[in-house]
Amino acid sequence: MMTKYYSTNLKAPSVDFREALLKGLAPDGGLYMPLHIPKLTVKEMEKFSSLEYHEIACEVLKSLLFDEISSKDLEAICRDAYNFVVPLEKVNDRKYILRLDQGPTASFKDFAARMMARLMHYFISRDKTRFTILTATSGDTGSAVASAFHGLENINVIILFPAKEVSDIQRKQMTTLHDNVKVISIDGKFDDCQRLVKMAFNDQALSDIPLSSANSINIGRLLPQSVYYFYAWVKLKNDNDDKVIFSVPSGNFGNLMGGIIAREMGLPVRKFIISTNSNNEVPELLRTGFYKAISPSINCISSAMNVGHPSNLARIVAYYGGLMDEAGAILKNPDLKRMRNDFYGVSVSDEETRSTISEFFKNKKLILEPHGAVAWEGMKYYENLSDNNKNQLFVSLETAHPAKFNEEIKSILGFSLPFPESFRDIDSKKEEFMEMENNYEELRSYIRTLNK
Ligand SMILES: *Cc1c(COP(=O)(O)O)cnc(C)c1O
Repeated sequence: MMTKYYSTNLKAPSVDFREALLKGLAPDGGLYMPLHIPKLTVKEMEKFSSLEYHEIACEVLKSLLFDEISSKDLEAICRDAYNFVVPLEKVNDRKYILRLDQGPTASFKDFAARMMARLMHYFISRDKTRFTILTATSGDTGSAVASAFHGLENINVIILFPAKEVSDIQRKQMTTLHDNVKVISIDGKFDDCQRLVKMAFNDQALSDIPLSSANSINIGRLLPQSVYYFYAWVKLKNDNDDKVIFSVPSGNFGNLMGGIIAREMGLPVRKFIISTNSNNEVPELLRTGFYKAISPSINCISSAMNVGHPSNLARIVAYYGGLMDEAGAILKNPDLKRMRNDFYGVSVSDEETRSTISEFFKNKKLILEPHGAVAWEGMKYYENLSDNNKNQLFVSLETAHPAKFNEEIKSILGFSLPFPESFRDIDSKKEEFMEMENNYEELRSYIRTLNK
């Protein structure tokens, strides 16, 4: 059966994957979700045990995309996207850390961005068209997107960042790539960058130029994020014939959504622990049954999770039979009972995050970064709820490399870490970027020039 994708706002027609991928957002402002999620049997999943990560990715994605991409093409795409290791570290008996930090930008966003970029490239090349990806970043997404699209033919990437709000290393990760990656520093804030991007998408004067976004709401980023849940289960299967509890450090809830898809496909998951920093609107939704966005969001050291209204929440609400609009109003309640059964929500403060990093290093000689520490501490909370919860099979997700947070690590542990391989020579590379006023006209004429 061909998988169609519906809009969470239910006011736009369902589309195929290609269209959902290239559009990003549905015309009614909703997010695309698969209408039908195929199932894998335990037997089929067990066969993954002899496979490498990119091969597992291909098997999982094949069942979702088989009618739109040949398996030969998908194999090549997966091999090219996942050319790095995915360590699953045993911490003690039944607790593991899945390290999603070994990609080129040392963040788990590489898993989604690299696959989305290659899928877009695949369809664009097949259609013999050209595309411009336009995206705003406050730091990490931009570098993952820039790196993911770098060198792909017929696609230009324009990334807008707020001049004073990204760190040197974040900027350099974008500005040292060159070629089809065009970087613009905006004299404004992140919200201004986002506003300019939105204006371009709505600009009739640019309607002849195929523009697409690469932000976290794209379905092309979500599907690949289900793969590492399968991978972890497969790697544990030999030692532990049990369902897994995943602790997921969450901000915009794309990571968790990937896990939900994996479980819907048949992966034996006992529970997802939703671990947030002080931006606890989703744990509160689970606890009280009411949703209230946090605005402005609270600044915590796990900065990639400083989200007061998660962009994927409408998808989760839809999956549980409810309806949430773009503004976050719940128009139809989701099945809260089922949600409480599937999730445990917990909010972890900065103080607890710091002491977790410190304790973890003292006891285990392993270094967590702030996001991974929130997940680990969330798991501890769950474990301490009842004796039943102890000695379960746990996998906590580490979503970034600790060296990306060296200032924080240094202040907690007293030393900093060497950068991963892919960052080491970044200081000697030439930077290239444009500076623009916070003014739309200039951006429009640049997009025009690029598409002459
Ligand atoms: C983006 C990000 C998260 C949050 O992931 P979501 O899918 O937005 O929930 C967690 N940790 C790191 C390091 C990130 O970059």
